Amino acid sequence: MTDPTPLLSRHRQVLPDWLALYYAHPIELTHGEGRHVWDADGNRYLDFFGGILTTMTAHALPEVTKAVAEQAGRLIHSSTLYLNRPMVELAERITALSGIPDARVFFTTSGTEANDTALLLATAYRRSNQILAMRNSYHGRSFSTVGITGNRAWSATSLSPLQTYYVHGAVRSRGPFAHLDDAAFTAAAVADLEDVLGQARGGAAALIAEPIQGVGGFTSPPDGLYAAFREVLDRHGILWISDEVQTGWGRTGDHFWGWQAHARNGPPDLLTFAKGIGNGMSVGGVVARAEIMNCIDTNSISTFGGSPVTMAAANANLAHLLDHDLQGNARRVGGLLLERLRAVCAGVPAVREVRGRGLMAAIELTRPGTDRADPEAASAVLEAARAGGLLIGKGGGHDTAVLRIAPPLSLTVGEAEEGARILAEALRTIT
Ligand code: PMP
Repeated sequence: MTDPTPLLSRHRQVLPDWLALYYAHPIELTHGEGRHVWDADGNRYLDFFGGILTTMTAHALPEVTKAVAEQAGRLIHSSTLYLNRPMVELAERITALSGIPDARVFFTTSGTEANDTALLLATAYRRSNQILAMRNSYHGRSFSTVGITGNRAWSATSLSPLQTYYVHGAVRSRGPFAHLDDAAFTAAAVADLEDVLGQARGGAAALIAEPIQGVGGFTSPPDGLYAAFREVLDRHGILWISDEVQTGWGRTGDHFWGWQAHARNGPPDLLTFAKGIGNGMSVGGVVARAEIMNCIDTNSISTFGGSPVTMAAANANLAHLLDHDLQGNARRVGGLLLERLRAVCAGVPAVREVRGRGLMAAIELTRPGTDRADPEAASAVLEAARAGGLLIGKGGGHDTAVLRIAPPLSLTVGEAEEGARILAEALRTIT
């Protein structure tokens, strides 16, 4: 096959083979506005994936562009050693929003680094290198975070310095408990957790969980399962880390944080975030109670987390989100989008399930008449959607057969309907 673009062959000469690129003919994006992006050939796409949920509010949001330009015009700098006004302002906002009492926040440049830091804190606080993580989870690809990522498709190595136990509970559609109703599923998962704790001799530092598994295919446990887990863990003093990298900032519509859907026993001990808060700029972080945050004694973790330009972007982006009630928009437009997606998928034999909360929707594909995931069908729909002018994502277990839809939270009703129409056409390729 000839190279479709010179940039692709240049990319392949100098970048790692494992750097993922979507599509048989990868896209070079040149600019964006609102919920749309354009490629180097001048094609316009409705963006239903937002750079893997990084475009939280909208592309080229004027307030963010202005805040970045103004801060960049004044000072581009590291985040450490000197007082940093945009960082303090963002920390004030996020600690207040976190729901965690006496909260402190530490800023990082990514979700991976946020989870790294959460592991550092939890293991130091509990003096244990044992971590509980969910099967099918994704928490990053650095050396420590691959060690807590249950989804092996995303792990470059399993030579982790952590001792990790994987727990059942987040995946409903396959595995030993798949046929059980919610109550029996929850009881089985709690029994599994208790068995694992027996092996860990109660000494684990923390359990880390995504309220809705993102890379794993937007799958979540039955309501009440994480609360039941918390009761068991609280008895042992084991910390709860909520990875909100995909579920934070109101994306799920009904709640500002994903943990609030499981809030019977209050906020998590630690919360990690990234992706959308910077609207594409690299901002991540971890929030924890002061006694946990301050259990280590260090100058910083790196030079750049919390740097003024990224903090300015995040402050402007968060203010826009709150002022325009984009969580409410996620609930309303997300509800309508889910309805449309269900209608569009009805009668498509490969569709096993359409699920979602707010503006986080998924279509799971299997080989018709079987339980086997169908990654080829997922790729075919992804390509056809692109040809129709719609960008979506893929995810799921090791077999990646879930279509993921997570547009910017300012999505309009008209755009939701347009996206569903394009998807209906794309699904014809597998019908
Ligand atoms: N946690 C979750 C739940 C994620 O989805 C991701 C990214 N897909 C990460 C952590 C890692 O974040 P980042 O890519 O910013 O390092």
